[in-house]
Amino acid sequence: MIDKKTNKIENDMYEKESLLLDKITRESSDENITKENLRLALSFLIKSYGKLLKLVRKITRVGDANQRKLVLAYDEIDEQKKELDSAYEKLDKLARKDPLTGLSNRRDFLEMVSSEKIRFERDKKEFAIVLSDIDNFKSFNDTYGHDCGDFVLKQVAEVFSNTIRKQDTVGRWGGEEFILLLPVSLSDGAVKIAEKIRKAIFEQIYVFGELKLNISMTFGVSIYDGTKDVDKCIKLADEALYKGKQKGKNCVVYEPR
Ligand code: GH3
Ligand code: MG
Ligand code: MG
Repeated sequence: MIDKKTNKIENDMYEKESLLLDKITRESSDENITKENLRLALSFLIKSYGKLLKLVRKITRVGDANQRKLVLAYDEIDEQKKELDSAYEKLDKLARKDPLTGLSNRRDFLEMVSSEKIRFERDKKEFAIVLSDIDNFKSFNDTYGHDCGDFVLKQVAEVFSNTIRKQDTVGRWGGEEFILLLPVSLSDGAVKIAEKIRKAIFEQIYVFGELKLNISMTFGVSIYDGTKDVDKCIKLADEALYKGKQKGKNCVVYEPR
């Protein structure tokens, strides 16, 4: 509104000013011009410049104030964007974590497998998928209680995290099942890593109040080598795990296909 008004005044002033300048230019070159006429014209011109100057100052003030408001508004938008980004980041992290153990959940794990698969297409480096399951966990819960079961699940997650190499990934597949992604050069490398984790979990003493407990886990290994898709690979690891359970549990099974 104020901008429209000042624009109009400004235009009028400039128009008057150029008419006046033309008039003075014309009259000053007229040899017959009287001193009095010249004085009147100049005085009018000076007044007009005074008004114009005031207007320019006003426009500058309004412009500066608007500029300051704009800067503040930009700052506020920037701040809100940062808050939104950080809230989104936190939410995204939470959506990827298993709340009990803090490990990657199924969704996050599968995304990492997808990235590994893309890497395989580029440099043909195989990786292993290892599914593992706590043995006789139902009777463990029945004997020691659900809270003790939860405590052991958290401890097992820690043993996994402390035993894997930095290039490996562990996730909670669901219930008492954990899953591993192991970049490996040879399938027996994956079996060796799984065996090392199996041993660490079996040898760990789980201290829950007065209780000193042991558990064991069974592991099924499968290798992704580009000949079958990831789902099939996970299914084969599950089948190997099932074989391990049938064989008597607390073991690592790998059957090349
Ligand atoms: P197997 O050796 O064949 O795997 O036998 P299992 O008893 O471990 O297997 P089953 O599938 O019969 O039972 C799984 C148990 O795991 C039952 C369930 O109560 C327990 N479980 C699954 N998720 C959780 C959890 O988040 N917390 C606790 N405390 N127990 C869980
Ligand atoms: Mg199970
Ligand atoms: Mg089980």
